[in-house]
Amino acid sequence: MSLDQSERTDKDMLIDGSWIEGDDRTDVINPYDGTTVGTIPSASREQVTDAIESARDAAERTSLSAYERYELLSIAADRLEERAEEVAEIITSEQGKPITEARTEADRSVQTLRLSAEEAKRQFGEYVPMDPQKGMSRDHCFTQPEPVGVVAGITPFNFPLMLMAHKVGPAVAAGNAFVGKPATATPLSALVLFECLDAAVEEMDAPDGLVNVVTGSGSVVGEEIVDHEAVDSISFTGSTAVGKYLANNSGMTDVTLELGGNDPTILWSDTDVERAAAEIVDGACSNAGQVCNSVERVLVDERVEDEALAALSDAASRLTVGDPVDDETDVSAMVSDEEFNGTVELFEETVAQGATVEYGGRYGGDLGERVFEPTVLGGVTPDMPAASEETFGPLIPVIPVSDFDEALEEANNTEYGLEAGVFTQDIDRAKRAADAIDAGGVNVNTVSGFRTDHMPYGGFKDSGTGKEGIKYAVEHFSRTKLVGFHDG
Ligand code: NAD
Repeated sequence: MSLDQSERTDKDMLIDGSWIEGDDRTDVINPYDGTTVGTIPSASREQVTDAIESARDAAERTSLSAYERYELLSIAADRLEERAEEVAEIITSEQGKPITEARTEADRSVQTLRLSAEEAKRQFGEYVPMDPQKGMSRDHCFTQPEPVGVVAGITPFNFPLMLMAHKVGPAVAAGNAFVGKPATATPLSALVLFECLDAAVEEMDAPDGLVNVVTGSGSVVGEEIVDHEAVDSISFTGSTAVGKYLANNSGMTDVTLELGGNDPTILWSDTDVERAAAEIVDGACSNAGQVCNSVERVLVDERVEDEALAALSDAASRLTVGDPVDDETDVSAMVSDEEFNGTVELFEETVAQGATVEYGGRYGGDLGERVFEPTVLGGVTPDMPAASEETFGPLIPVIPVSDFDEALEEANNTEYGLEAGVFTQDIDRAKRAADAIDAGGVNVNTVSGFRTDHMPYGGFKDSGTGKEGIKYAVEHFSRTKLVGFHDG
């Protein structure tokens, strides 16, 4: 592994085709060893305004054809692919994610740009016959998709490259200009993505301001995005608290919200418990549990509770905890003291209320300052904190249930509705779960955390509104115009 921990990655923000240093700079900290890995500008509200207005100007001036948008995104994908290892190392150093997972994130982000490029060529309207209306047999109408104008993308810390690619790719594919605002803790990898997009804009001779990125705090940068009337659509991924705030304060601006979750996975006695346990542990512990659709609660058929606890503990014991730059590491540091302390609190309170530690339970100290080891909790009841709240750490709370109806009821016993998993070999049970669980995705024979970049993805209830997934995001970032030809 070549990552040089002493190298600093200082990056600037892109406004109207220029890279701007900014007056104030913020440090980006490596969560595993506490070193400063780089700095970014803290944008002022005026600079955010400049970015939005340059995007508005570019949106008005751009006349890139669908094929040109395909070319632009393909060039950006090529550039990112050339820098895949570099950007994976940056993700690991700013976020603490194991390098193997960071490489996957880099690959998927390239793929997202390529899928977006292809989708740019698939924008069709439809013929709308008028003759169903009495006396209108000589009139003809069709619809044509148009870009909404300026799309702003606000992203969280946990997939700093991929979640930005999920927004900027479809927004540009649909013909929009874009302003990105990455998470304050993990902005560097997203800035590499914008360097690649900027190179593509230049190569295509597209307008400056077609893609912009501004860095800094949510309260300054985010607020200006929310307040500025030139933003036509805000695509937000992050916590439910901030998402609700945006929804309440964005007036007439369209908002897509991809928010938190407390995703259940049901493990029924008719399934291969060992296989399910291995997937559940991966689904709960990847990125140290800092994944919106990670396995947050395991609802286990009480007839196999002991077997499941043993299999989950066995799978958890096989994970390697350590330095994220090592290829062998499966679980490493959490992004910040806040996330780490939140997990410690949920764990300690749940144990104090009677849950048993079946495996793990160690944190900090020799493991590393912000490292929590994979932890299986038995005898958990639905009201205990690790079960009732979103846990953004590698905790696996196991809740025994006595029949399948109870499992479904418990699955829905949450204000969230992002995704769910159901391990069963019984088709009727699978179908009942798919129909009954109130979540944006129900995955049979795998865990809640299933996502590919092209599928429709987005939660119900407090987990959000609207769908991502390339095709669905492109549709969302487009508006439909009706053109009518009438009997003259
Ligand atoms: P967060 O809500 O704290 O921050 C997300 C982004 O919003 C950051 O860029 C932040 O700077 C910005 N922000 C903060 N305050 C703002 C304001 N007032 N106005 C505008 N922007 C503001 O979330 P986080 O801690 O970075 O991420 C973790 C959360 O994200 C978890 O709840 C997780 O479930 C959720 N998440 C959801 C999905 C999904 O697809 N549903 C994916 C990943 C993460």
